[in-house]
Amino acid sequence: NYTRRGVRGNFVPPIRSNGNNTGHTTLRNAGKNEDALDDSTKRCMELLCGPDGQLPEKLRNLEPRLIEHVSNEIMDRDPNVRWEDIAGLDHAKKCVTEMVIWPLLRPDLFKGCRSPGRGLLLFGPPGTGKTMIGKAIAGEAKATFFYISASSLTSKWIGEGEKLVRALFGVASCRQPAVIFVDEIDSLLSQRKSEGEHESSRRLKTQFLIEMEGFDSGSEQILLIGATNRPQELDEAARRRLTKRLYIPLPTTEARSWIIKNILEKDGLFNLSNEDTDTICRLTEGYSGSDMKNLVKDASMGPLREALKQGIEITKLKKEDMRPVNLQDFEKALQEVRPSVSLNELGTYVKWNEQFGSLS
Ligand code: ADP
Repeated sequence: NYTRRGVRGNFVPPIRSNGNNTGHTTLRNAGKNEDALDDSTKRCMELLCGPDGQLPEKLRNLEPRLIEHVSNEIMDRDPNVRWEDIAGLDHAKKCVTEMVIWPLLRPDLFKGCRSPGRGLLLFGPPGTGKTMIGKAIAGEAKATFFYISASSLTSKWIGEGEKLVRALFGVASCRQPAVIFVDEIDSLLSQRKSEGEHESSRRLKTQFLIEMEGFDSGSEQILLIGATNRPQELDEAARRRLTKRLYIPLPTTEARSWIIKNILEKDGLFNLSNEDTDTICRLTEGYSGSDMKNLVKDASMGPLREALKQGIEITKLKKEDMRPVNLQDFEKALQEVRPSVSLNELGTYVKWNEQFGSLS
């Protein structure tokens, strides 16, 4: 197998190379041949250099275009989500604060037996706020946020995933404290060993686990958050590294009510009675946070559509011409926006949570 790896190692796939950046450029030879890098790549490299003007060791053998991609596309300079934007999920917020935010803010207190796990898994149905939690953690802990979807590593970065993973962890270690959020982590760390599993995806997984191991043992302030709606597909190695596993369930009645109010109030459109809000909440059992957002959006079109029906032209329509959003708007919207999660899926999460989840 070693020979095969060697041969593959030299293969540079014909994707994502921009102009004069051939994909063969490493920083070492880039240093000798600076013209090979375009201005934006150079700027990006400069920002990562230490006070001595040198690139940190970890980044030296990586391709500049991958480092640039991580810095520009994966690194999010302003995640812009706060705890108070997230409805419900009090248990998750409490766990995350203790396990992640305090240690990132006060590393000196979280040493030795208090040293935190470096891997967190958020699992549950889609659209329930897992990504929001990741962003909020970065915001609250004043950490740099990196977002990558694991499926893009296998689909968009065919054959280059390993290198991108190295660049990702390399840049993160220069930007500590850092939070690396890996969406759909099951597609990277799944236990499926089908015959069709490619050598390349096995290597990608190994590389990923090696990188995790690296910062787990060191004093680096990097937290890895994996998110998945298929936790049952994760294998034992993945579970072992994602030490804290939090179930992010569908929003409760109170959380749904909060989402409706919060979104409408932001636009000055909230005028529902408590009774009407309760009715909407009763009718939206099983809706995810994301479904609720879509429902509110659809309902908020009601007053606009009605005003236009009365003959007012869209160009002349004033905000004052529109009535507030009411229960009937929601009842209509409920016909359009159906829940995206089937209730029988939930049993799988509950069972997995009982077996592997962090319950307290
Ligand atoms: P996930 O990562 O679990 O698939 P996201 O965090 O991306 O879901 O949520 C998608 C959108 O749904 C968010 O941008 C937000 O508008 C809404 N949403 C989901 N869950 C919540 C929540 N608990 N509180 C407020 N909004 C939510």
